[in-house]
Amino acid sequence: MRLSQYLLPTLRETPADAEIISHQLMLRAGMIRRLAAGLYSWLPLGLRVVQRVEQIVREEMNAAGAQEVLMPVVQPAELWEESGRWDNFGPELLRIKDRHERDFALGPTHEEVITDLIRGEVRSYRQLPLNLYQIQTKFRDEIRPRFGVMRAREFVMKDGYSFEADEASLDRTYEAMFEAYRRIFLRLGLDFRPVRARTGAIGGSVSHEFHVLADSGEDEIAFCTSCGYAANVELAEAAAPETERPAPAEDLRTVDTPGAYTIAAVSAMLDVPADRTVKTLFAEGRHGPVALILRGDHELNEDKAAAHPALGGECHFLDSHRIRQLAGAEPGSVGPVGLDAEKVAVLADREAAVLADFVCGANRPDQHLMGVNWDVNLPEPQAADLRMVVKGDPCPQCRTPMDTTRGIEVGHIFKLGAKYSESLGATYLDADGREQPMLMGCYGIGISRIVAAAIEQNHDQGGIRWPQAIAPFDIALIAINKKKSQRVADAAEALYGELRQAGYEVLYDDRDERPGIQFNDADLIGIPHRLVVGEKGLDRGMYEYKSRAEQDAQDAPVDGILDFLR
Ligand code: ATP
Ligand code: MG
Ligand code: MG
Ligand code: MG
Repeated sequence: MRLSQYLLPTLRETPADAEIISHQLMLRAGMIRRLAAGLYSWLPLGLRVVQRVEQIVREEMNAAGAQEVLMPVVQPAELWEESGRWDNFGPELLRIKDRHERDFALGPTHEEVITDLIRGEVRSYRQLPLNLYQIQTKFRDEIRPRFGVMRAREFVMKDGYSFEADEASLDRTYEAMFEAYRRIFLRLGLDFRPVRARTGAIGGSVSHEFHVLADSGEDEIAFCTSCGYAANVELAEAAAPETERPAPAEDLRTVDTPGAYTIAAVSAMLDVPADRTVKTLFAEGRHGPVALILRGDHELNEDKAAAHPALGGECHFLDSHRIRQLAGAEPGSVGPVGLDAEKVAVLADREAAVLADFVCGANRPDQHLMGVNWDVNLPEPQAADLRMVVKGDPCPQCRTPMDTTRGIEVGHIFKLGAKYSESLGATYLDADGREQPMLMGCYGIGISRIVAAAIEQNHDQGGIRWPQAIAPFDIALIAINKKKSQRVADAAEALYGELRQAGYEVLYDDRDERPGIQFNDADLIGIPHRLVVGEKGLDRGMYEYKSRAEQDAQDAPVDGILDFLR
């Protein structure tokens, strides 16, 4: 590519409204331009990087047995009503009407659409498992779009969905996807970490996120250097020291974690296998004070818990609004409330029974963090507490003090189970001719976010330093003062041809700019290798070579340049 003909509008100044380095550098390097809040155009250089990331993801997904499809961005409301998410997804779902006043949404994710497709096509266990993915533009009306393409409203995602006949099959696919993700992020050349995660609006039970480690990351990760345990701290999974009382109410930093996780965490903390039901735990008296975490829409949580194989329908939920009302809290107030035994007696049997077993934490439906502690005069606390992990907390697996770090969520995989196949009626006939709901997994990667995350990890004073695998070009070729020297112009032209012939992607700076500007631009856009053609070097039969990762340039022989580059 000849730079004189290329749309590469580099900027010398740092744009004032760009807060993090990747956003600044993507604007300065002429990779993206803003259209409106959270909406960006990709310019040629930026799009090349996107396509490189896509290619690696595609290759690994195909190698892992997934098949590429492409589904519509616009999705009919009826499907979202069937799954229950038309009402539950909230304002991130951008709703639109067509000319006939029919409701549609711009797809923030595609569980409904793919489940609709598969329910119409798959009848028998013989057709399962199936693993399908697409690479496509998603729209989420983010409350606070920021950091450029890192948290955009329109962004590119790889979303994959698997359909399985049984748990064992789902486990296998989940494992395969976990491994494929590991390979993808290794190939991308990024420093990453898989962590346990909660399932959010997508739903399901087990899930892992893949994080690119960076100080600017919006998520905090707790990890154990001893046994390798790692979790997003929003998962709220922590073991308190054996002898300590649980944290006072103000410090009980709970989050709106789905019930399934609450229980998994409880099991882990009590050192019992995760498949024990809550009932068993309490029947054996092996519970300590535990924060039971609720969400406003606790019906949704009950569904999730019921679908969770480890819970066996034994998970109880309390209506946090009702409890707060009973405790005399101001409507709409937040913060701790107290509930004594008298008030507990007013509750219905089931609720009272649950309360008697827990010191409770609750949460507001608007998803802000808060903790609530009900004092129901339980016996002395024992081992467990459930709160946000902080640095130094003991690891739930091995009790080594944990460390924390910041990360950017670039991938997220979930075991969905039967959540969508049941609500949408995606069933198959098993070997005995019985109708069964398919089990599902879903697997997302933030393609465009990865581009920004890669820059967060790979930059210096001069600009971007692309990892080789996703660099927009392999070689930046600069001709110095070619307007004044026909010899330089000819040599650069010949080298450009030779490099391309050899299969390199070359960005040839054939502009009549000052060398300082040419060098600065090459550093800014971060191409891994730089070759300079100048009079002085040619006198000695040399080009000048510099790696973007190194400080000093070196001679590279005109004759045998291809061997030199290899
Ligand atoms: P986040 O917690 O950052 O909002 P999410 O958990 O809502 O992300 P998922 O539903 O797990 O996102 O979507 C899969 C992937 O899509 C994420 O891991 C992330 O890499 C990417 N992604 C999600 N939201 C955005 C966004 N607003 N802009 C760019 N990429 C995004
Ligand atoms: Mg989100
Ligand atoms: Mg997330
Ligand atoms: Mg996620």
